[in-house]
Amino acid sequence: MDTKTSQQLSQPLSNSNLAQNIKVEDDRTGMSVETLKRAFSDNLFYVQGKDESNATLHDYYQALAFTVRDRLLHRFIKTGRTYYEENVKVVSYLSAEFLMGRHLENNLISLGIYEKMRQVVNESGLEIEDLIEQEPDPGLGNGGLGRLAACFLDSLANLEMPAIGYGIRYEFGIFHQALRDGWQAEIPDNWLMFKNPWEIARPEDAVEIKLGGHTEAYRDEKGHNRVSWICDRKVKAVPYDTPVPGYRTNTVNSLRLWKAEASEEFNFEAFNAGNYDRAVGEKMSSETISKVLYPNDNTPQGKELRLAQQYFFVSASLQDLIHIHLHIHPDLTNFHDRAAIQLNDTHPAVAVAELMRLFVDEHDIDWDQAWDITQKTLAYTNHTLLPEALERWSVSLFSRMLPRHIEIIYEINHRFLEDIRTWFPDDEELASELSIIEEGADKKVRMANLACVGSHAINGVAALHTELLQKYTLQGFAKLWPEKFFNKTNGVTPRRWVLLSNPRLAKLVTEKTQSDSWLKNLDEMRVLEKFVDDADFCQEWRDIKRKNKITLAAQIKKLKNIDVNVDSIFDVLVKRIHEYKRQHLMVLHIITLYNRIKANPNIDIVPRTFIFGGKAAPGYFMAKLIIKFANAVGEVVNKDPDVRGRLKVVFLPNFNVSLGQKIYPAADLSEQISTAGKEASGTGNMKFAMNGALTIGTLDGANIEIREEAGAENFFLFGLTAEEVYAMKAEGYDPMSYYDSNEELEAVINRIAKGYFSYGDTKLFKPIVDSLLYDDPYMLLADYQAYIDCQDRVSETYKDKDKWTKMSILNSARMGKFSSDRTIKEYCEQIWGIEPVKIDIEQYSQ
Ligand SMILES: *Cc1c(COP(=O)(O)O)cnc(C)c1O
Repeated sequence: MDTKTSQQLSQPLSNSNLAQNIKVEDDRTGMSVETLKRAFSDNLFYVQGKDESNATLHDYYQALAFTVRDRLLHRFIKTGRTYYEENVKVVSYLSAEFLMGRHLENNLISLGIYEKMRQVVNESGLEIEDLIEQEPDPGLGNGGLGRLAACFLDSLANLEMPAIGYGIRYEFGIFHQALRDGWQAEIPDNWLMFKNPWEIARPEDAVEIKLGGHTEAYRDEKGHNRVSWICDRKVKAVPYDTPVPGYRTNTVNSLRLWKAEASEEFNFEAFNAGNYDRAVGEKMSSETISKVLYPNDNTPQGKELRLAQQYFFVSASLQDLIHIHLHIHPDLTNFHDRAAIQLNDTHPAVAVAELMRLFVDEHDIDWDQAWDITQKTLAYTNHTLLPEALERWSVSLFSRMLPRHIEIIYEINHRFLEDIRTWFPDDEELASELSIIEEGADKKVRMANLACVGSHAINGVAALHTELLQKYTLQGFAKLWPEKFFNKTNGVTPRRWVLLSNPRLAKLVTEKTQSDSWLKNLDEMRVLEKFVDDADFCQEWRDIKRKNKITLAAQIKKLKNIDVNVDSIFDVLVKRIHEYKRQHLMVLHIITLYNRIKANPNIDIVPRTFIFGGKAAPGYFMAKLIIKFANAVGEVVNKDPDVRGRLKVVFLPNFNVSLGQKIYPAADLSEQISTAGKEASGTGNMKFAMNGALTIGTLDGANIEIREEAGAENFFLFGLTAEEVYAMKAEGYDPMSYYDSNEELEAVINRIAKGYFSYGDTKLFKPIVDSLLYDDPYMLLADYQAYIDCQDRVSETYKDKDKWTKMSILNSARMGKFSSDRTIKEYCEQIWGIEPVKIDIEQYSQ
């Protein structure tokens, strides 16, 4: 790209007085019902090019979305300008995933115009809920990690913190999951098929990304030894900005996602040489970088394109930040005073090397100073304890794609290991554990080590997780730099996960607390504790849950054509499918109850509806087999007349944020049954508890803290602790001994092995049976009896309606800690050093 042209394009005409002539109160973006109505109809006509005679529901959605977007823009623009003019420190949240969920309803409530717009839409003879359903769920993430990034952006804006999210504008998000004969089928998620009203393209802010090639040393005019990177490919990164409003605040932050396009310069060359095919081919191959989200959760795939994606968005974001900084400041020496950069897992960890390259190679800062600024700027969040999930790139692949970065990484590592050997002479074991490079036949770059060395703060996402990181996964670094380690227990936004998802509960809380301020300070929900013995309140509480269950039951009927009993326990396990999350343990419980019924059809059993949801990585064989397993067991159980409808099994397809908003509020029982020491935090656990579900769970991740807050008496605990898991593994764990000594368990396994759930096919589920009996890496058999006993206690408790209701209320009332507002305040104070910034805007009319 011609940089002069791009600078001219991006140069604002600040002397224009056009802006001053437009008033906020202008009729175009007013907030009165009349004005909203006019805007809705104008947008249908002038944006969609339709009128009442030919508009589809989707056209009306677009018209409504543009009506709402127009009303965010004043604040969006003013927010950006205020950060710039007041020259404040801004946090950049770098994440390969943002699982935002639908925008429309969230933006309506943030602006406080939901009820007015409902009226406007109704006057057109439509229901606002139907328009909201038209929005494709933007699935630019796999699960918890991407959803955390979205909750954090919400809280940052809500707290009026200067922040920007940086990521990738994937053309295809997480695949749409269909179930065919009980198996997962993946369907591409073409979410941008219709225009996306929430994004604003900023081609004038595009930056160029280099890839491949080689490096050359040279001496510059000052006589300094420098290195230049001669790439063999350039890609253009074009930013698309999505406004992220706070709840009832003027702050509207930006989520800036990068799209890959062909760089004109390179295309032009081929084109001029008469090679049209090559020019087009290059355009296509450049655009593949942001084409599709990798659908793996907690298991990296060492694919070249994935590394290209990571470098692409990191380089674009850092160049963007440096560009903005140099608009205001003469140089980059105070960069860390104006920018904090958070790395959401190791996906953006190449930022350590890229920031050094930009400082040293492009901006001529000496190494030591560049390193100082880099470390002061960056902070790293670790998201996993699973050793197989730690990202490691082969040095040969890395060198081919990023020849300059591998040199920088070697230099960083060289200096780092020299320090280590000075501080700990003769401890070669420590040096090789901490080294950024894993030696061996196929050398690897350890991205977690790179992130730790390059950051001033390292955090885990729940108390247990941070403790185990320091004890095991990152123990060397914890010994070296104990002061760098922080715990930041995750949270979720109560705006989306209570107000939007559970409006009935929100209304009740607002009535009882006589204000909606609990939405900004979730600790205020504690007020509900005083109603636990109020019979009317308890009845209202139960009515709300029942209504939410009826809504979900209708959805189940629609999606699966299964009738469920809304007075049964809604026993829910929704999350990515992973062996460590142990969806198959819940299936073992279902079979246990089924066996009890088969042995004694008149047995007294508390009715249950078992609800599963979640996607499996397309290449993860066992996870996909677990989906088939749950469906196969469901098929047998649901149609067996002996069961008499007392047990129902439902696997809802395509679990995503929108479906979650329907499921979490309808759950009675939240299943959080991972093997202790495997789940970093979990956030689904928090959404359930806020909405009044009781948890059955292990001492893993944030379950521990949820139990502490709710009170041990309001939590169904079972299973081994993390330390017991390690100890048992060290002693030599023998799953077969559990099978041999437990009749109920034996009967369950035998029923599966004999092909009872697979029309006599004994091969189908053999991988599951064999895994359990001969290896059982996630220790299902060791936890089986404790889980079953605990489930029996759940059923007993459910029979006592008053007791259950009280436990449910106390769970909701005591979840204040798990608002992501609390989490974000801690990051702001302890890691980022940023403060709220008031955005002054002429008061908009209500
Ligand atoms: C919250 C959420 C998750 C994370 O769930 P966990 O139970 O913490 O694994 C995953 N996917 C979606 C769509 C979510 O909303």
